[in-house]
Amino acid sequence: MEAGECSAIGGEGDGIWAKLVPTDAQCSGIDITSGDMVIHSEVTCFSSKKQSWCLIEKVPHSGKATIKNISQGPIIVDEAIVGTEETVNIKYGSEIVSGPHREGHLVFHFKETSFQKQDTKALMIPLDVEHAKCSICLNIWHDVVTVSPCLHNFCNGCFSEWLRRSEKKCRDVVCPQCRATLQSVGRNYFLRNIEEAILQTFPLLRTSNDELALLDNRASVRSNLVLGAQKPSSRNRSSGFSSEESFASGLACPQCGNLIGGFKCNRATAHLQCQACSGMMPSRPDVGIPQQCLGCDRAFCGAYWRAQGLDPGGEYTICSPETFQPASRWTISRVPDTTHEYNRYEQDITEWCIRQMGKTVQATVLEWITKLDNREIDRARLQLKHAEAVTSRTHLCSDCFCKLVNFLLYWFRLSMPRHLLPPDASNREDCWYGYACRTQHRNADHAKKRNHVCRPTRG
Ligand SMILES: [Zn+2]
Ligand SMILES: [Zn+2]
Ligand SMILES: [Zn+2]
Ligand SMILES: [Zn+2]
Ligand SMILES: [Zn+2]
Ligand SMILES: [Zn+2]
Repeated sequence: MEAGECSAIGGEGDGIWAKLVPTDAQCSGIDITSGDMVIHSEVTCFSSKKQSWCLIEKVPHSGKATIKNISQGPIIVDEAIVGTEETVNIKYGSEIVSGPHREGHLVFHFKETSFQKQDTKALMIPLDVEHAKCSICLNIWHDVVTVSPCLHNFCNGCFSEWLRRSEKKCRDVVCPQCRATLQSVGRNYFLRNIEEAILQTFPLLRTSNDELALLDNRASVRSNLVLGAQKPSSRNRSSGFSSEESFASGLACPQCGNLIGGFKCNRATAHLQCQACSGMMPSRPDVGIPQQCLGCDRAFCGAYWRAQGLDPGGEYTICSPETFQPASRWTISRVPDTTHEYNRYEQDITEWCIRQMGKTVQATVLEWITKLDNREIDRARLQLKHAEAVTSRTHLCSDCFCKLVNFLLYWFRLSMPRHLLPPDASNREDCWYGYACRTQHRNADHAKKRNHVCRPTRG
């Protein structure tokens, strides 16, 4: 089937109160922006001709709407035929077919869009601003973290500083508010929204930019930190373990109890659990060794233990350095399946282009990493958490390296002049949904017919 195009009279903008959502993913939804709006779109799957075929009108203050058939023939609304110039009620969820038969015509669902917005706005939670203050600095939390088991909340920067001091004194980490011995600390994204909402409502409570910069500078909690020294290994690491068990029994941290590389953990040392091997390592933000991936903020231990001179294969569960290394050190031999959103056809073309140029995937990726370093490419599509900071020297986990490769090879393909593509691929029109097209990986015909290495122009 050819891609259907849908569009509507009337601009986009804030006044969208409902939407016609097509059942065909190829077709984009129509925003209904004014109280009464003529829908002007394609009506069949086969022709690209647009026409005005119905009028949707909001019935004020009733939560209801009507649809008037202004086309030449009948349309179907909720399985009932509606003749020319007839008007019927519709409700949210109603099904509207743009002609007398489902086959060959476009099918839409009528959905409200403002409802959800009103709903969240209407959800008012009484909140005492005093309860949203950090008991260390007495300001509204900034980048709030929550400790367990007592679940008290603090600014990331304030708590990180507290942690650093406890560590210096080799004392158990206790809660600055209630003195409970702490087990872990992590960022709290839910409360962060509340933090922002409060500051929007009461701008005067905002802390000065200098203070915020100081807090950000001190903040060291990125992924979840396990607090306190880890119990020695229970000596059964070779037997199967669930991740929960391993966390509870503590896959031993090599530096708990042993001086390695001039460092030994103390009672207050915060630990990170490696996402690859589940082993523990002390969190040491001040020593300049990467312990967390800049692409996903998750902890990986390979680079840290290499810097401590510890090799995998010994008594402890640790990763080999290859699982967490600078982007330029990763090797890659073929175009990943994810590069063109599982579109095999584009994947083959990219491989083909690389071969035609007498290069390898590895060389091509390195070449484009250099362009990234030189800030020659727009990073908008780079799906990494700290995309702006990523360079060839950035330590990345394998998942994030793969995302980087996808991004670089996309740009490599965009840079290829059309006439250098294989003959049957050089004259294709762009799919309107571009790289975001959801049909490209399941419909081989569509993948062949349209170019998908391009930006979406709609949808
Ligand atoms: Zn604070
Ligand atoms: Zn507490
Ligand atoms: Zn340790
Ligand atoms: Zn990562
Ligand atoms: Zn590891
Ligand atoms: Zn497509």
